[in-house]
Amino acid sequence: MITPRQTRLVRTAGLRAFQAAIAAAACDGPAAARRARAVIVPTRAAADELGRTIERVRPGGGPEPVAAPVLPDLVSRDDWYDLLHRRLATAPPRASEFEREVLFGRAARETAAAGAPPPFPLRPGLVVQMLGLYDELRRRHKTVEAFGRLLFSSLEPSADSDRGAARLVAQTRFMTGAFLAYERLMAASGRLDEHALRARLLDPSAGATLGHVIVTVPDQNADPAGLWPADFDLLARMPGLERVDVIATEEVLATGFLERLHNDLLPGIEEDRWTGAAEPPPVLLAPPGTRNVQGTFTQRTRNGHGADTEPGETSRRYWLVRDREEELVDAVRHIRASAPPGGEDRVAVVFQRPLPYVYLARHVFGAARMPYQAFDALPLAAEPYVSTIDLVLSAAASDFTRGDTIALLRSPHLALADDGAPLSAGETAALDCVLQHERHLGGADRLADLADRLERGASAAPAADVRRARRAARAAAAAARELAPLGPEAPPTTQLAVLAAFLDRHDRPPASDAAVRERELRARAAVRGAIDALARAHRGYDDAPVPFEDVAAALRRWIEGETFMPRTGDRGPHLVDAAAARYGDFDDVRLVGLVERDWPEASARNIFYPAWLLVQLGWPSEPDRLGGARAAFRDLLRLATSRLALSAFTLEDDALVRLSPFVEEIEDADLPVSVVDAPAARVFAHEALMDDPVAPGEMAGDAAAWLALRLARAPAGDPRFHGWTGPTDPGALRVSAVERYLDCPFRYFAAHVLRLGEERDEEPGLSALERGQLVHEVFERFFAEWQGQGRGAITASNLPEALRAFARVAEARLADLPEADRALERARLVGSAVASGFGARAFDFEVEADVEVVERLLEHPLAGEFVFATREGRRALELKGKADRVDLLADGTIRLVDYKLGRAPKTSRKIQLPVYGVCAEQDLAGRGGRAWRFGAAGYIAFGERQPFVPLAPRGKPFEEAVAAGVQRLVDSADGIAHGEFPVRPDEPYLCTYCPYPTVCRKDYVGDE
Ligand code: SF4
Repeated sequence: MITPRQTRLVRTAGLRAFQAAIAAAACDGPAAARRARAVIVPTRAAADELGRTIERVRPGGGPEPVAAPVLPDLVSRDDWYDLLHRRLATAPPRASEFEREVLFGRAARETAAAGAPPPFPLRPGLVVQMLGLYDELRRRHKTVEAFGRLLFSSLEPSADSDRGAARLVAQTRFMTGAFLAYERLMAASGRLDEHALRARLLDPSAGATLGHVIVTVPDQNADPAGLWPADFDLLARMPGLERVDVIATEEVLATGFLERLHNDLLPGIEEDRWTGAAEPPPVLLAPPGTRNVQGTFTQRTRNGHGADTEPGETSRRYWLVRDREEELVDAVRHIRASAPPGGEDRVAVVFQRPLPYVYLARHVFGAARMPYQAFDALPLAAEPYVSTIDLVLSAAASDFTRGDTIALLRSPHLALADDGAPLSAGETAALDCVLQHERHLGGADRLADLADRLERGASAAPAADVRRARRAARAAAAAARELAPLGPEAPPTTQLAVLAAFLDRHDRPPASDAAVRERELRARAAVRGAIDALARAHRGYDDAPVPFEDVAAALRRWIEGETFMPRTGDRGPHLVDAAAARYGDFDDVRLVGLVERDWPEASARNIFYPAWLLVQLGWPSEPDRLGGARAAFRDLLRLATSRLALSAFTLEDDALVRLSPFVEEIEDADLPVSVVDAPAARVFAHEALMDDPVAPGEMAGDAAAWLALRLARAPAGDPRFHGWTGPTDPGALRVSAVERYLDCPFRYFAAHVLRLGEERDEEPGLSALERGQLVHEVFERFFAEWQGQGRGAITASNLPEALRAFARVAEARLADLPEADRALERARLVGSAVASGFGARAFDFEVEADVEVVERLLEHPLAGEFVFATREGRRALELKGKADRVDLLADGTIRLVDYKLGRAPKTSRKIQLPVYGVCAEQDLAGRGGRAWRFGAAGYIAFGERQPFVPLAPRGKPFEEAVAAGVQRLVDSADGIAHGEFPVRPDEPYLCTYCPYPTVCRKDYVGDE
């Protein structure tokens, strides 16, 4: 028997009346009646806001707080089902999402094995999507049989002639089979999923769970957080439910929700209108007039309301800034400038997408020292502890390659060393160097072997690294050994037990800071709970062996979908999403993020069926969805009791974004407008530092100490501030170091005075340095062999022979490289079907030069005191260096060759060839009983279109180029001796490849 019930629709003019109507219905009657009542809201954040609002808003409208010691349950849809389940007298436990996924995965596999295979590979991610489709079908009140019938009748007629339709038929056959198998397995599991729970709640013998339900969300067609047809059916037929109130604004009802309520969802529903005091609209705070900006509109004159602008003037009614961070910065300025003391609690910053704003708020509000309150659920995946799981899964999946191993060792949440003491950054960095040196490509066995060799000192890596890396190597080898069972196919319970044991064994105590500690403990508990729940689900329903990637994918997917609700702050402006804001009571509202991708939010597309088929199954159309979003936006425009401001931005991820189409609603809302200037007050710490005069009193703690230090340092005009250290004694100068000085004096200072190690980027394959060494070695060996055979110049006639010899030499050297790097380096050196190799390109210039070579000196050292002719006269300098190749030619001249993997240096930085040439003249004087004259030089630069780049640019005398190079050497040597190391890159692009970006003060380059 169906319990007689009153179903009532309460229509409200706007959101303030909406809240008052909810408060009145929620607080109606005695405490016992409120305990049997639930208010359905879209999210937990909305429930939080509504709870506060009910405490402030007296039913019927009034300034005093309502006395409501017993509030009804304020619940999201999911929480409502949990509440109903808890209140059932007897009911089997609910199935967890893990259990449902495991059961559905098994149902899908069994269906495929029974002869209805899916037309796609059955990946774990797709199983979840199929389960989502099944849920939606059932929530739309469709049975599996109806789903199959409708799709087969639509698709089968064209399946013979249309491959797409035939594929959809096969897919539907598989889906219906899997859905039915899942229902069978679920029924046998002894658990209840949402659909089985609904069926049980509708059973006349179930007994009463709630007496009164207040629905404050629309249906799914109007709002993705709304109720489904099956939920409304439950409301219409659930035993014991005596009263259902649906409360909605006129804007939302006008989207078609009113019609659907009367016709389909709750036929016979009575209507009531909330009558409260008239709600004056908020004043719209608009920026000063702006002409002809994208997204502007023509302001109309109107009676009563309007900005102080002329008819026809073009203006914007929203603030337009660069990015989301600037939006929050602006919001903080406005709140500081306009909220009365203590009135910040009555301000809301409202966004559609919480994530970027809630994260940015920590930084922006923190910098302004403005407390704030945030209620939104954040992704669990963003919690620092969760990265640990990712590191463990990645290391196991990649079989402990260098990058994943080092990342795992660096995790601050794990204690991996055998003595329990944390590994230092230096030990991990040393192991990183050793692994690079050893060309480690992964493998638990190789790590064990390496740890053993390091103990015995049997590694060719630098001795200091070998000593320092031992503990880290033992830790890495032990971790790889412990996680080794995760490699092959195994029952999921076994794999999850290995993972859980690893985390238990190496868990590091959480941070000591109370707030961080609490979050960390919650994140740990959530992750460990998920591992245990997944293991329980597999143990109970399906423990067939699977590859570890499947288990890792299930865990990752759960982590990505899970949210975490760390409530932030208890005073200051509210940071709320648009769904929760509808339930908040605010004087000032600032709507942010008015861009296309936020307002309206994009809908999730079904990946299995096209929209035209889904509409037949009751899926909403795009206009329905947009209508609901637009109505909710219009409501928000009138939420504030006092003031409203809106903002948009132009850039996200360095790309231009378009304005939301909803900006047109601002004009139509017909709000009174007040044009205000942007507040100019200094509210951020950086403003206290950057604007004159610096305000030290604005800083506190470490920042104040740091500022005191900065203010006490040398004045900005002091040469020491600009890289002048005073005289130095560099000793014998390396020519390559002087070349670095020419690139940028500060780079020289970092490398040769401070002797800092280079910061290396992670690179797959050989590093640039390693590749340079390889190329130099191959050319050196080739020419040594060529010359050893009595061969001179490479000419057109011996070129093929030279190329064969070069390939042979290269192949021998390539054999020393790891297999993974060999193919790529072979293609570079000896070429491929589509490109010539370095050998052929280098020899071309020699063939063209066609001069007889008497002798080649390879990697020829040049060290000692050399004399140079400079503008100021002759100068002696002590130098050391090594010329790549010195060719002694039959005409008594010296030809210098320098190999470059990239491009030849710019003329203003050419130094090695001219200097080595002059040095070689002096060094080789008398060799072979004769004098030698420096006569030619050039770079073989493999990054150039024409690889041979002569020292002297076309049309310039060779001697002039040599003299200019020598002068650069002498000037640089003087700069180094005087201690002049300014930040002065010869070209800005050099900073891109600089190994010292983090110690460089390039911030003041532009000031000089
Ligand atoms: S980053 Fe640029 S300015 Fe700084 S040291 Fe390197 S090259 Fe010089």
